[in-house]
Amino acid sequence: TPAPVSNFLRTIIDQDLSAGRYAQKSWAGQPGPASTQEGAAVDAARIRTRFPPEPNGYLHIGHAKSICLNFGLASDYQGACHLRFDDTNPEKEEQEYVDAIIDMVKWLGFDWTFKNEENLYFASDYFDYMYQFAEALVNAGYAYVDEQSAEEMRANRGTLTEKGVNSRWRDRPAEESIRLLREMREGKHPDGSMALRAKIDMGSPNINMRDPVMYRIRHAEHHRTGNKWCIYPMYSWAHPVEDALERITHSLCTLEFEDQRPFYNWILERLVELGQLSEPLPKQYEFSRLNLSYVVTSKRKLRQLVQENHVSGWDDPRMPTLAGLRRRGYSPGAIRLFTDRLGVSKAAQHVDYSLLEQALRDDLDPVADRSVAILDPIELIITNYPEGQTELCHAPRNPHNPQAGQREFPFSGRLYIEREDFKEEPPKKYFRLFPGNTVRLKYGYVVRCTGCVKDEQGNVTQVLAEYLPDTKSGTPGADSVKVKGNITWISAEHAVAAEIRLYDRLFAHPQPDAADQDFLEHINPNSLRVIQGWLEPGTRATPDARWQFERLGYFVADRVDSTAEKPVLNRTTTLKDTWV
Ligand code: ATP
Ligand code: MG
Ligand code: MG
Repeated sequence: TPAPVSNFLRTIIDQDLSAGRYAQKSWAGQPGPASTQEGAAVDAARIRTRFPPEPNGYLHIGHAKSICLNFGLASDYQGACHLRFDDTNPEKEEQEYVDAIIDMVKWLGFDWTFKNEENLYFASDYFDYMYQFAEALVNAGYAYVDEQSAEEMRANRGTLTEKGVNSRWRDRPAEESIRLLREMREGKHPDGSMALRAKIDMGSPNINMRDPVMYRIRHAEHHRTGNKWCIYPMYSWAHPVEDALERITHSLCTLEFEDQRPFYNWILERLVELGQLSEPLPKQYEFSRLNLSYVVTSKRKLRQLVQENHVSGWDDPRMPTLAGLRRRGYSPGAIRLFTDRLGVSKAAQHVDYSLLEQALRDDLDPVADRSVAILDPIELIITNYPEGQTELCHAPRNPHNPQAGQREFPFSGRLYIEREDFKEEPPKKYFRLFPGNTVRLKYGYVVRCTGCVKDEQGNVTQVLAEYLPDTKSGTPGADSVKVKGNITWISAEHAVAAEIRLYDRLFAHPQPDAADQDFLEHINPNSLRVIQGWLEPGTRATPDARWQFERLGYFVADRVDSTAEKPVLNRTTTLKDTWV
């Protein structure tokens, strides 16, 4: 593997490490998950990153960028990367999503264990710390309970050009705020009746610094903490605390969070000042998110596609979810290669879908088993081949890797070929089968087309040819007859029948969810075509088996629907079309 390409984050990490920022063990005594308490002493000089998904949907290709970035940096610098569920929004979160996220991070090939630490965390495990910190902030005059209604708060927050207005509750005594905060926690007040706010500056040019809400009341059951809590922290308050408790060094976010950084720092600095946290503090850095053409990458919209049955589920092979890409046949290596090629910066990133497909080809080409499939079959009858006879032909499993060995399959007098490989009246530069022409049946014999059989409507039902007995591939006579065309075939009586699912883009618009677009209107009604095809004899379509079918592309046995008796294959992507 080539040395990683440098980027602004690596430059920052290099500087931090050479300045010895994490070499001091001053973290001792700071609260946090037990596993990092011990670990922090072991690896004080190393970096810690985190991937913090909210378990409110399945991961998509955009998340893969963040996963590869965070886990990749940690591994390159011999540090740790935490998988942390940002589960602070009880209404939208479910265990199903937690399980699916764990599954996909593992599938991508990443691991959150580091030495003796199991760095899998839940923000909800820190609710007690958050609450303790909140009281400390209130006692110090850094936060207050506000009884304005949500509408009043919104109206008094001001705008980009207009300063905000202080709440009439802003200067209430700390003891009163503490009493109300405790009542909020005890469930004495209804949703929306009051909130805890940081006391910063209603005149700040950064709206996020105008007394942001820290806790709101939500009488909702949480998938992990049940009914223990009825106040839940806002993301911008919870996130810096989560990072600090886990001793994260570099907290990498997408650019939308840039405006939140001052609040992130404000919270952490206040908590250090109040003796609740110790330095060195985590620092937030932002990078641009990945936007991929012809797909939507918003969990809300992906959920809508699932709930309204536009697709068969989160793992529908047309979905840009990692579960969908896996089922479609994408390899973890292809996705890692794709994100490596994207790089990381602050420049807006609109990437063409073809880059993802190319990464798949580049990842699989050196390793995928070759095989033959016929998707639109027509019979080719070898009229001079002895009836009932068969013989074996040989082909490399992978031409790039002689060690993979050979595969073998029978030749016989009745074959399936692709319908498009015969033309009664050949167009110009057509080198395949037409009456009088010779072609090579790849890995088999050269045959000369003698005609065809038609039904009453004039449709071709069989193509007829004679084989040239001395021309078998791999024998001395193989090159005695020069041909310009090479076609794939399968012995009809040995062929394995399969259901084959051919996919097109799920959306017919390059930016289906651009601001002025209704993404549902751009759903491509023809994104799935199911056909019956034939596979090379001996093909074992065990779930997740992948092949490159010659001329046709990369395929995978569907991990849900394929069985040995009834193979079901998905086309992952076509080959670059170099076929003559
Ligand atoms: P969505 O808008 O799809 O719900 P999100 O950012 O709210 O995405 P989270 O579960 O919070 O979803 O995301 C976890 C991490 O993945 C975050 O750090 C987020 O910045 C990152 N991430 C999400 N989408 C992308 C993307 N398109 N490109 C890069 N990183 C992303
Ligand atoms: Mg989020
Ligand atoms: Mg979101």
